[in-house]
Amino acid sequence: MPYQERRRSITPRVVVVGLASCFGCQLQITNQEQYLTDVLGQIEVVYWQMTSSEPMPDSFDVAVIEGAVTNRESEETVRELREKASKIITIGACAVTAGIPGIAAKDYEDRPHEVYNTIPEACGELIAPRSVGSVIDVDYEVRCCPIDFYEFVQVLSAALYGSNHKLRTTTMCTECKQKENICFYAKGEICLGLVTVGGCQARCPSLGRPCNGCRGISPSANLESARQSVIKYGLSVDEFNEKLEMFNQTNTQFTGEEAAVEEAR
Ligand code: SF4
Ligand code: SF4
Ligand code: SF4
Repeated sequence: MPYQERRRSITPRVVVVGLASCFGCQLQITNQEQYLTDVLGQIEVVYWQMTSSEPMPDSFDVAVIEGAVTNRESEETVRELREKASKIITIGACAVTAGIPGIAAKDYEDRPHEVYNTIPEACGELIAPRSVGSVIDVDYEVRCCPIDFYEFVQVLSAALYGSNHKLRTTTMCTECKQKENICFYAKGEICLGLVTVGGCQARCPSLGRPCNGCRGISPSANLESARQSVIKYGLSVDEFNEKLEMFNQTNTQFTGEEAAVEEAR
């Protein structure tokens, strides 16, 4: 078999798909052109909606998905991607936790009419915004809004070459303490690092800003205990809850009831 043909037959074929999102996470990838060629040397990108108008092929190995599921058409798209790809990677808060589109999950039936008199056909058959992981099984996640390019490369490598790393469950505070940051609670400010899953090396507290929870609530977070801490520091639980809404609107840990996404099924 000629070299080019042999290489093509063993190189993982990757598709990159954007759903409801600002495309900022895909931009994070394209912005790193000095490293991008190394990454692209390991894979064959056979479809990338943002960079080419070529149609998606019928077969590929890895699907990278950005954005939340907000209509029946995108729900169908992710199901098809799951059937065809051996590995699914979701990138960014919109895809992983429903992120910013997820803010509209509550009372979503009223949302389009707040903007449109007649809902445009291009919106498709709207449903309550939901994470990709609530529709299909996801193999790997790259969290944050926007994603960190290097974390994306780590996760892509794990998807291509295998990994025994378990999903992280520790909260941000562990990483924040390692950075020797002074806790925002001691300064009278709410920080969501208390309940947010770690992995970004406490990026925002290290830059002098409280965490706003873009990685989503950790599965091991104790929200009730966190609320007690908020009270202990003389801060507002309502404000704490309101801040959590930004990236966790469809998370059952947060809503304490059936998620909006489940209700809409
Ligand atoms: S996670 Fe943030 S940066 Fe990425 S697509 Fe969603 S809104 Fe944009
Ligand atoms: S500043 Fe935030 S992340 Fe850091 S220790 Fe305090 S609550 Fe945790
Ligand atoms: S510190 Fe919080 S808000 Fe900042 S990147 Fe990490 S998870 Fe996101």
